[in-house]
Formats: sequence, C-alpha cells, structure tokens
Amino acid sequence: MFDVLIKGAAVIDGTGQKAKVADVGIKGDSIVEVGQIESIEAREIFDGRGYFLCPGFIDAHSHSDFNILAEPPGGSKIKQGVTTEVCGNCGLSAAPLLGDYKKQRKKSVKALGVDINWADFKEYRQVAEQKGLPLNILPLIGHGNLRGAVMGYENRKASASEKKEMNVLFEKEMKEGAWGLSSGLIYPPGVYAGQDELIELNHIVKEFNGVYTSHIRSEGDYLIDAIDEVISVAKESGVSLQISHLKTMGEKNWHKLPLVFKKIERALDEGMDVAADRYPLYSGKHRP
Ligand SMILES: [Zn+2]
Repeated sequence: MFDVLIKGAAVIDGTGQKAKVADVGIKGDSIVEVGQIESIEAREIFDGRGYFLCPGFIDAHSHSDFNILAEPPGGSKIKQGVTTEVCGNCGLSAAPLLGDYKKQRKKSVKALGVDINWADFKEYRQVAEQKGLPLNILPLIGHGNLRGAVMGYENRKASASEKKEMNVLFEKEMKEGAWGLSSGLIYPPGVYAGQDELIELNHIVKEFNGVYTSHIRSEGDYLIDAIDEVISVAKESGVSLQISHLKTMGEKNWHKLPLVFKKIERALDEGMDVAADRYPLYSGKHRP
C-alpha cells in the first residue's frame, strides 16, 4: 500500500534520460517504485497524465532569507518546483545582524511583515524552523553582514583586529551550520574590502569544506579584473568558488565573455573548483 501513487506522468529522473511515462509509488518520504504499477492501493492517487514529474529543482542563487519568514513561507518557490534554495548570496544574509547593519536591514524587511528579533545564525535558524519551512535551505553568510557588524559602512580597509573580529563572527556561524561565505563586492560595505580580508574569511570556508560565492566587483567595464580577483581569492584560500549571475553588461563589454570562459577553464585545468550561475535577462533592445 502506497501513501501516494502518481499515475501516468512523464517522468524525468534527473539522470539526463528523456522523459518516460511511468507510475510512481511513494511511501512516507521515499519513492519506492517507478514503472507500470498495477496496484491502485494508495492513500492518495494523482492522475499524472499530461504532466511532467521530476526531482525538485535547486535554486543555486536566491535571496529568500527574509521572504521565507513571511506568510506563507516558501510557497512561491515550491509552486515553481524548487525544493532547495541557496540563500544569503551577494554578501547579504539574514545573519549575523548586528549594529548599523541590523538597523538598515530592519527597515528594508518591514514591508514583508518580518520583525528581526535575532542577532546570529543560531537564532535565525530557530525562527525559520518554527515557521515550518516547506523546502530545504542552504544558507550562506554574507560578507557584508560580517563587515557591517564590525565596521559599519566605513569606506576603508579593515585593520588586523577588525579582520580577526569578522573571522570570529564567521567561524561561529559556520559552526552553527552555515554552508559558506558570499560576497557582494559591488555593494557597500563589501565594496570597501580588500582581497586580504576575503582570503582570511575564505580560509575558514576551507576549514569547513564550504563554498564561496561572489557577486563580483564589476560585471561590465572591469569584468576581467573582477574575474581575476575572485579567482585569485579562491585560489589563495583553496575554496570552491561559485561566480554569481555571470554576465557581461553593456554592449561594449559583450566581447569579453569568451575571455571570461577561458579564465574559468584555465582555473579548472589547474584543479580549482569553479562554477557559475546565470539568470535569464532580457535587455530592452533584444527582447524576443
Ligand atoms: Zn548579486
């Protein structure tokens, strides 16, 4: 007896095979049978004819950190088939939230009806878990949160003791279950950081076998320098790198993309772990 039986859907199993029409039997939270299932004994039966059935999608670049606390939590992503989200990208995460950075964030999430009553990742996680999330979250810690907590929005390099403070804050969040670090090197306060600061933090990412994602310093006029910078930070610290929403902005910069790919391929050839994600964007001129 199945708990759920889905009949006659076009099943895409995620292995790269073409869709095959099949029945899928589920017991508890496990798929126990895929194929022509004769039995119709199930608590719930869905007629899958005319539908695709596939594993949940992973959204590799998301900013749902605060949205998942709004009502109903996570609903919009689940309806799109997303079952796992990587949150906390572009240097901005829901924790830690301290000092000026917290004040700024409190204002910006008010419209969602979310009241920030946490300071660190452990407390945020408790709030999120109490909401009963319908999907998996892979949380990153924003470099902006760390710098903002220690230095506010000051436009200068971090001193040795400030870097130490950021490292301590970050290590604590990694111990609490964060998956890595994200930086937003185009936004304040991340834009004020030098490579040394990012490399120190990434040494901690490496210790925890985490991932480093970055909204790089330029996505147009200084794209090549920005790619060089982020690859060099990852190389120095030995971390896995995810270049966020890779693109080249402005028609005069379009020719740079082949060189960007070459640089990524070179890093891969050297044994580095580098990947990138993209989002679909239409420029006004080239709208299909
Ligand atoms: Zn971004």
